[in-house]
Amino acid sequence: NLEESVPVKGKDELSSMAEALNYLSKELEKQEAFRKNLMQDVAHELRTPLMTLKSHIEAFIDGIWEPNPDRLRSCIEEVERFESLVKSVESLYEADQIPLVVSEHTDLREVAEQVVQMFVPRCENSGITLSFDAPIEPLPVIIHHHDLSQIVWNLLDNAVKYTSTGGAVHVNVGSIQNRSYVHITDTGIGIPEHELDNIFERFYRVDKSRDRNRGGSGLGLAIVKRLVERSNGKIGIESNPGSGTTFSIDWPR
Ligand code: ADP
Repeated sequence: NLEESVPVKGKDELSSMAEALNYLSKELEKQEAFRKNLMQDVAHELRTPLMTLKSHIEAFIDGIWEPNPDRLRSCIEEVERFESLVKSVESLYEADQIPLVVSEHTDLREVAEQVVQMFVPRCENSGITLSFDAPIEPLPVIIHHHDLSQIVWNLLDNAVKYTSTGGAVHVNVGSIQNRSYVHITDTGIGIPEHELDNIFERFYRVDKSRDRNRGGSGLGLAIVKRLVERSNGKIGIESNPGSGTTFSIDWPR
């Protein structure tokens, strides 16, 4: 009995201590459940590229397949999928940590421009028009440079991944009413309205095999959500299946 064992404390103090303990144990339980689910999800996801790789190698050994360059390339693709999954799991884990106090001002305009530049060759290769629009003045956001870069990168990666040849992706940064924003718009396949709440869950894909074949890990948006939340940002989506999607994120300046 907490009350008897700590006689010097007042009743109010005791009940707030009990509340705090209760809160802490619930938090620990939640974290434990989170870790357990994460482990199961990750094991499940890692199994797919491993099994594919294993069956390819067995087919080579049994002489069912000649190890020609195309088949060897598909083995490398599975290894790359595995690598990218491991990297995303690490990023998700980092995004879930309680952040240190951030006093760093990062310029959203500069970061967005750098990330857009990284996508130029990929868009040229896939016949997607990529454009960028920004004001002249800097757009300070209180966030680590690496986190901001990862948010824009993941959203741009999706925009390009889910847009076909001949489509367009537009990135627009600016500020309105003391908030800095980034809008990433694509003319891609879009997301059905009833899926909009689900897509931020880890390993959730609107169409499992289609999205996996496009090279998705299913973790991109789960990471974005956590990074945006921990930097006090807000995220919004507008999407029309068949005509495209806009992800908008804004932060207090
Ligand atoms: P993935 O790595 O599979 O892309 P994400 O977490 O980044 O995983 O996204 C979850 C799902 O949301 C995707 O599998 C896809 O179905 C959908 N999605 C995300 N961004 C877009 C987009 N710009 N256009 C259409 N669908 C999208």
